[in-house]
Amino acid sequence: MPCSSTPLSAIVQGPHPIQEEKYRTASNGDEDQKYAIARHLPIQISLVLCVASRSSRASWFNLRRMKTDVIILGGGAAGLFCASVAAMRGRQVVVLERSEKVGKKILISGGGRCNFTNLHTRPDNFLTNNPNFTKSALARFTPQDFIALVKKHNIAFHEKKLGQLFCDGSSQEIVEMLLQECAAVTIKAHCEVKSIQKPNEFAVETNQGIFTAPSLVVATGGVSIPKMGATDFGYRVAKQFGLKIIPPKPALVPFTLAHEELQTFSELSGVSVDALVSFGKQKFRENILFTHRGLSGPAILQISSYWNAGQAVSINLLPDENLEEDLGSQSASNMNFSTWLGIHLPHRFAKAWAALYAADKPLRQFHAKELRRIAERLQHWQLTPSGTEGFAKAEVTSGGVDTHELSSKTMEAIKVPGLYFIGEVVDVTGHLGGFNFQWAWASGHAAGQVV
Ligand SMILES: Cc1cc2nc3c(=O)[nH]c(=O)nc-3n(C[C@H](O)[C@H](O)[C@H](O)COP(=O)(O)OP(=O)(O)OC[C@H]3O[C@@H](n4cnc5c(N)ncnc54)[C@H](O)[C@@H]3O)c2cc1C
Repeated sequence: MPCSSTPLSAIVQGPHPIQEEKYRTASNGDEDQKYAIARHLPIQISLVLCVASRSSRASWFNLRRMKTDVIILGGGAAGLFCASVAAMRGRQVVVLERSEKVGKKILISGGGRCNFTNLHTRPDNFLTNNPNFTKSALARFTPQDFIALVKKHNIAFHEKKLGQLFCDGSSQEIVEMLLQECAAVTIKAHCEVKSIQKPNEFAVETNQGIFTAPSLVVATGGVSIPKMGATDFGYRVAKQFGLKIIPPKPALVPFTLAHEELQTFSELSGVSVDALVSFGKQKFRENILFTHRGLSGPAILQISSYWNAGQAVSINLLPDENLEEDLGSQSASNMNFSTWLGIHLPHRFAKAWAALYAADKPLRQFHAKELRRIAERLQHWQLTPSGTEGFAKAEVTSGGVDTHELSSKTMEAIKVPGLYFIGEVVDVTGHLGGFNFQWAWASGHAAGQVV
């Protein structure tokens, strides 16, 4: 089936209109009439009316209670996918999205090409307090399952490296695919949730009315990139229902440097070096990239998810060399140290590193002990970041709803039947490379099969 564009207005009301019940409370005839008109207008116009008539909005919509089978909070990767799986089972689903459109993070992901999965997804590609938690969902919805869907929609893709699959075209294709899969789902954009109650079923009060359902799925993501609409809403819902939260931290985030190191390396902004970066037992071999504020690049982003503030990361700048032997054999050489280092590493970086950590003089003028120390430092460079660039630049949030509170099979809260948490709001954080989307699909699928 070719992948054509589906405007949001075409899918905001699915084929199963939500049942609406009128409250028999004090109502104003004019307001009812406005609402009746709005119901028959396209969503964009309804939204304008909503915004224009702020003061009367509450009284309009509070008059209506909309009953459905499943309410999903958040129209991101996990929410949309869960909605499509549940709708496929014939469930009547409504997605409530706070932003003006769904799937905004998908659109900016993978540099605009969405790294939508990773062929080598395994539970140890995820950080969580509860390492067994991801196993069931990942095994029941695999990268191959998502690839089958992508192929069904004729979306061309390629493996960039290390099992990372990207669209050949753009991330928009993945959003359009999800929207097509959600053809039977009602999606409410610009929908602000004001309160959630659970007298019996869940009752979600919003600026567009009160939605009630026996199942409530929280898919509001983490707090990274607030300017894309990220909020801590999911954590607040978890707290409201007495569930524990693992403190959220920026992850897959660039490091900042300070003092001499910042002065020296900020001048190298844009230079990258293949390195092995480690913190504790974790090691990542990929590029590190110097920025005007510190360090980024895939190896740094990966290690940042494990890093603890105030501690050093170790960088092996020449992981394939036997440096002690190599440098030792140069002990009679007239070559300057930075020139020798420039044979192995980018020249500008070699000069800056030499200026900071070793005298830039001919190699024959170093004592054998000094050369050994330099070799050791090049392969175990201890660098203590001053911090990270924080949630504003973090690709994801680590921490979130404690997985011990959830069923690993269904994502349902053990203490609160009918309440589900999926995607990044949960304390499951993937490595860089398509793993975070695979978790969004797998956890969304797990919940979508049972709600
Ligand atoms: C720049 C960038 C690039 C990335 N690239 C990749 C990549 O290539 N591959 C990969 O695997 N991962 C990537 N990620 C991570 C990936 O985008 C997320 O892990 C994934 O989107 C999480 O899905 P989610 O559905 O849980 O949350 P989100 O996709 O963040 O969706 C949450 C939704 O909930 C909505 N919402 C928030 N609060 C409320 C509320 N109160 N009421 C209603 N709705 C609300 C939000 O507006 C949003 O639409 C990237 C992230 C960023 C920031």
